[in-house]
This record gives sequence, structure tokens and C-alpha cells, in this order.
Amino acid sequence: MGSLLILPGDGIGPEVMTEVRRIIAWFQDKKYLKFTVEEDLVGGAAYDMHGTPLADETLAKALEVDAVLLGAVGGPDYDNLSFNLKPERGLLKLRKELDLFANIRPAQCFDALASFSSLKKEVVSGLDIVIVRELTSGIYFGEPRGIHTDGSNERIGVNTQRYTESEIRRVAISAFELALKRNKKLCSMEKANVMESGILWRDIVDEVHVDFKDVELSHMYADNGAMQLVRDPKQFDVIVTDNLFGDILSDCAAMLTGSLGMLPSASLGNKKENGLPRAMYEPVHGSAPDITGQSKANPIACILSFSMALRYSFSDVQNANLLEQSIEKVLAKGYRTPDLMMGEQGSLCSTKEMTDKILEELDASL
Ligand code: NAD
Repeated sequence: MGSLLILPGDGIGPEVMTEVRRIIAWFQDKKYLKFTVEEDLVGGAAYDMHGTPLADETLAKALEVDAVLLGAVGGPDYDNLSFNLKPERGLLKLRKELDLFANIRPAQCFDALASFSSLKKEVVSGLDIVIVRELTSGIYFGEPRGIHTDGSNERIGVNTQRYTESEIRRVAISAFELALKRNKKLCSMEKANVMESGILWRDIVDEVHVDFKDVELSHMYADNGAMQLVRDPKQFDVIVTDNLFGDILSDCAAMLTGSLGMLPSASLGNKKENGLPRAMYEPVHGSAPDITGQSKANPIACILSFSMALRYSFSDVQNANLLEQSIEKVLAKGYRTPDLMMGEQGSLCSTKEMTDKILEELDASL
């Protein structure tokens, strides 16, 4: 039996999580999914209750469970808090304490939304790729860093790209394992032409490949990768890259698919004793204070985050596929939350109505 910890957070987080709970209840009721679901506070909601954006007991629970599902944190009420009390610190602490080193961002284009992409419909229609970004090392963390003066009144900004073999190896293993569950194609991106850390990255990925011979591996310089992503994104299946390049490439890939309200993500860490990786699933979007409390939030990014949990933490590919197909059908029938309506013909739905339609499709599948 698995275990899930739900942390709705702030703003539209609790609104979209209410809808995910209905989806979970459906799977528990109709598909007899057996996992325990606990719920707790994070971000501004935790600060309001405990005076800290992540209580120790909540962290202890997060370390215990098989998967954490988080809504979103932050909002204008908390903007003036000191740095360590800000809602975002709760999220960052969770990522750090769970040592979530592999950030997984799918870029999946539902056919019905292909016209939302800034690229031509035929380039993105049917797109289904995943970017694995190293999340806990590289240039955002490397030392030395800072802004120094060199004695000549000129300031020098310094950041250091630094990767150890083991940091590269573990994220490469995550990416190969993911590729095995998909179309068995992995493209590793770095800048081995101009960066030593890129040469090491390439070496280690090649070493790991020896244990994953069923996966077809290719290497690409990250700048070419950026071009290829907007030229012909469907050539990829899984992409693995470092923290900096992954930050940029995953945002670029996300926009291939259109709306922020549709984008899920997962962050995975080391495997625990039961063989499952530590894992946190969350929509890419934030707490959206501009639409909070108006029933306008698109719940699909959060529902797809739960679908990723089914796939990667609970090895339940069948139900993950069922959920994603149900969402695809609802979109194909023209149901749209406001964020998906721009210039489109369709039936306008509230947050709850969108979930009602997904549940109708799930019921129809029985
Ligand atoms: P945001 O993602 O909250 O919103 C950006 C825009 O997208 C807004 O117009 C919003 O209405 C829209 N949007 C976002 N999610 C949507 C959804 N599900 N359905 C429909 N529309 C949606 O980013 P922001 O406005 O820059 O940040 C707002 C707050 O969220 C800030 O406090 C920020 O720190 C926080 N934030 C949190 C996370 C997180 O929890 N992971 C991520 C980003 C931002």
C-alpha cells in the first residue's frame, strides 16, 4: 500500500487540490487504488498556522511518504515577510531535505490545444517529450560565487559550474530509467565543446549507458538542443541536462504546449528502502493571486501532476494513461477553463465543472 501527502498551499493551490481529491476519490472507489492520503500545510498557510512556511512535523511526514503532491505557494499577503519566513522557503526546504535532484517536466501537447502553441500546429500536434533537469547542483550552487572587486574599481560577478561524477551519475540513471518506461530514447545536452564540466557530463552519461543498452543514447550541444526544440521537438523522447541548461530548455519546451495551467512536474530523489524514489509532484504554475477565489483556475496541471505520481511513484501506468486520455477527450469536446479560451471556440468551464467533465469521461470508461 502506498502513501501520499497532499500539501495544497496558497492561492489557487487549495482550489485545484480540491479537484484532485475528487479524482483520487474516484480512483480509490472505482479502481480500488490502495494508498493512504494525508494532508498538511505548506507556504503561507503553514506560516499563518505555525509561524513557519514548513513545520518540522510536515517535513517529517514528507520524508516518510511515497509521494508528496503540492499545489502552489506564495501570495501578496506574504511579500513583506523576512526571507526565511517567505512561503517559497517552505517549498525550497522540502526540495532540499528530500534531496530531489531530478526535475522532470513533460511537454505534452494535447491535440485540441495545438493552436495555443506559438509554433505551427503540425510541429507540436501529438508532442510528448520529457526534460530531466539536474536540480541541486551546477552553476546555481557552485563555489566560488559572488560579486568581487579586483582592486581596479571594477566589479566582477562570479558563478561556478561544478559537477561531481556522482551528481551526474544519479541524474543520468533517473533519465535512463525514465526513458526505459517510455520510447527508450535519451538525448543528453551539455556544452562539451567549450566546458570541461560538459566533457565530464558526457563521459559519465556514456558510462551509465552501459547499464541501459536498450536505450538509444545521443548527445547534443545545448545551444543546438534549443534550436532543435523549436524546429522539430518531436525528434526527442527524453532529454537530460544540467541545472542551468535545464532551467532554460524546460521553460522553452513548456511553451511549445501553450498554457501554464496545463503543465505538471515531478522532482525525484534517491530510492528509499522500498525501492521507490523520494518524490514530489506539483504543477509548474504558482498561486495565481489574480484569479484566486474566482473558480477560474485550470485544475488540469495539478491533476496531471497526480497522474505523474501514479506513473512514477505507484507504477500504475494503466490508470495514469486512463486519466490522461480522459483529459484529452474533455479538451477534444471543447471544454475550456478561461485560460484556454483565448480566441478559441469552446464551452467555458469553472474549475469544478472541468473536473466534473473529466469524471464523466472516467465514468464512461468503466
Ligand atoms: P503564477 O504561475 O501564479 O501566475 C502567472 C499567470 O498565469 C497568472 O496570470 C495566473 O492567473 C495564470 N495562471 C497560473 N496558473 C493558472 C491556472 N492553473 N489556471 C489558470 N491560470 C493560471 O505566477 P506569478 O503570478 O508570477 O506568481 C504568483 C505567486 O506564486 C507568487 O507569490 C510566486 O512567488 C508564487 N509562485 C509559486 C510557485 C510554486 O509554488 N511552485 C511557482 C511560481 C510562482
